[in-house]
Amino acid sequence: MQNLNNPITYINGVSVQRATLLYTELGIKSCNDLLNFFPFRYIDKTQFFQIKDLQPNTAEVQIVGKITNVKSVSQQKGSRLVATFQDASGVMELVWFKGQKWIANALKINEPYVIYGKLNHFNGSFSMPHPEMQLVTEYKKTLQSAMQPVYSSTEKLVNSGMSNKIIRTYIENLFKQIYSGIQETLSQEIINEFQLISKKEALLNVHFPKNHELLAKAQFRLKFEELFFIQLQLVRKNRINKTQIKGMLFKNVGTVFNDFYKHHLPFQLTNAQKRVVKEIRKDVASGIHMNRLLQGDVGSGKTIVALLTMLLAIDNGYQAALMAPTEILATQHFNAIATMLKDMPISVELLTGSTKTKKRRVIHEALENGSLHILIGTHALLEDKVQFYNLGLAIVDEQHRFGVAQRSKLWMKNTIPSGEFGGACPPHILVMTATPIPRTLAMSLYGDLDISVIDELPPGRKEIKTVHRFDNQRLSVLKFMRDEIAKGRQIYVVYPLIEESEVLDYKDLMDGFESISREFPMPKYQISIVHGKMTAEKKEFEMQRFVKGETHIMVATTVIEVGVNVPNASVMIVESTERFGLSQLHQLRGRVGRGAEQSYCILMTGVKLSEEAKTRVKTMVETTDGFKIAEVDLKLRGPGNLMGTQQSGVLNLKIADLIKDGEILHLARKTAIKLLEQDPNMQQESNGLIKKAFNEMTKTAKVWSRIS
Ligand code: ADP
Ligand code: MG
Repeated sequence: MQNLNNPITYINGVSVQRATLLYTELGIKSCNDLLNFFPFRYIDKTQFFQIKDLQPNTAEVQIVGKITNVKSVSQQKGSRLVATFQDASGVMELVWFKGQKWIANALKINEPYVIYGKLNHFNGSFSMPHPEMQLVTEYKKTLQSAMQPVYSSTEKLVNSGMSNKIIRTYIENLFKQIYSGIQETLSQEIINEFQLISKKEALLNVHFPKNHELLAKAQFRLKFEELFFIQLQLVRKNRINKTQIKGMLFKNVGTVFNDFYKHHLPFQLTNAQKRVVKEIRKDVASGIHMNRLLQGDVGSGKTIVALLTMLLAIDNGYQAALMAPTEILATQHFNAIATMLKDMPISVELLTGSTKTKKRRVIHEALENGSLHILIGTHALLEDKVQFYNLGLAIVDEQHRFGVAQRSKLWMKNTIPSGEFGGACPPHILVMTATPIPRTLAMSLYGDLDISVIDELPPGRKEIKTVHRFDNQRLSVLKFMRDEIAKGRQIYVVYPLIEESEVLDYKDLMDGFESISREFPMPKYQISIVHGKMTAEKKEFEMQRFVKGETHIMVATTVIEVGVNVPNASVMIVESTERFGLSQLHQLRGRVGRGAEQSYCILMTGVKLSEEAKTRVKTMVETTDGFKIAEVDLKLRGPGNLMGTQQSGVLNLKIADLIKDGEILHLARKTAIKLLEQDPNMQQESNGLIKKAFNEMTKTAKVWSRIS
């Protein structure tokens, strides 16, 4: 039997040279790769026109007819070849300017041809220059009859003569050689349930659709299959985590948790926070390893949930770690948590890149002997030297800032590999994110995690008023700033910073800082500035001045984007808003509106805006709902660019589209869950084909290794 893993040189007509080109340009190596290289559009040749129905504005047409006469017509420069072409309804001309001699010889008079091409209209009659032509007898033999596939290409391919037609021919040859060897990959039960066409038929019709209906069926089948196998993998991983990876048991809700909850909680938890804490408690008391994603919009209060979870760990004799992506954030978490715990017998330390060696040593020792309960920090936590006595819980804040590899390091942080604390169990993992991920996307990205959502903001928050102002309205903005400062409020002014234009961006930032300093002179006004080029100490110093209320204005780049919490700051001014992405803008706006006062977000832009930039600004002005914003973002940019998903292999979809195919995704997920419930290891004979395809896939494709 023909093996689909054969290199494409196996296909008739594919030279080594062309195979190399296909590999370097499109990543196509095996026959299977080519088979799964799907067209991105089709030229519709299902329709045949009659000559009498042609209209002056008809673009490309296909007609069946005969050539009755061929002649060479001389013109100003050289000549042209003109054929008279007619069907039962009328007459038109076919015209050639190049290769006339060869064509004149090849044309057959009075034999039926299928012609296809662009139409010209002149003086009431129609002509078609350089038509694609095929004798009807030939046309009937080829697969490429109805709707012609168009494949994506690259400049290099086109320049090397690898036209769409050549790729089509390769695929056609491939089908001729291996068609009988294409195997079904889904069970009869699933095929029946969704009335799917067979794998063979689907592949054939996605490349060479017989008609619209079959194309639609082929696409549905292949999209379903693609999403089904991804979901099967994710759901399976989640089940294995639950059944096979032992978790540390936090069976007590003890004195630490209860004492804090009763006497030191600074506010009443929202219902959403309570629900999430319950979900987490259930996980960690189950003896199963927790792998949970906590989603909550900016300001929804994830930190307190993190703290309560850490207290559960401590109550059960374990240590806990909290990792944040930036020094500013880690420090802020440390300050907030140390303050909340100040009257409790719990030790908390901060470890970042700028922790002094001496202090480090003390921390390392306390971690290893178990006397330190909570460690908060940045990537510094991941260094090999950092070893815990018994880490029971690792929390990762703003998880999208960390790579998968970095996160997985947290699994191996315990000095004692076995013993009373549950042996070689990894710590429970809680990842927190403020990036609102639309449901469909979350399902694909985090299908192997359990998801908790804080969908309620703490009470008393006023909706942030958001307005759009052009640069030439700056005077009124400055006045507004002065008024707010007079009321005792603080203000952020944020500038874009993109690596590619770093030099210019710093200039903008510094120019901005200077002009603000002029408008808001010392000593009446104090201004902080924070940007990536400052040392961590300097940043921290400036940040602290702002946090303490010593400065009125914070001029910054996006380093303040995530997490920073200054409740008295009530105005966020974003400069060059058009250069920010939606989710970034949403994060930035989330820096204000954290106190009881009315807050404002002012989006400054130039006068000339692209349509996309207009949509972004409009969306921000119209809604503060992070999920709505994420949906728009997804539509504008596509899933691959959505914040936090760049490194996701799952999104390399061949045919399904996460935006458009949400419903198929739901079906696929439901089906995967049902199958694994009935047959966890896919051992039933009826699931044999699925299991085979699944194994094949996980062997060849990169395993979608996710969060942990
Ligand atoms: P995020 O989810 O963005 O990390 P934080 O945990 O920083 O949010 O919380 C934002 C602010 O809301 C903090 O000042 C916090 O003290 C406050 N907060 C959190 N939960 C509540 C609550 N239930 N009631 C009142 N204030 C709360
Ligand atoms: Mg936070």
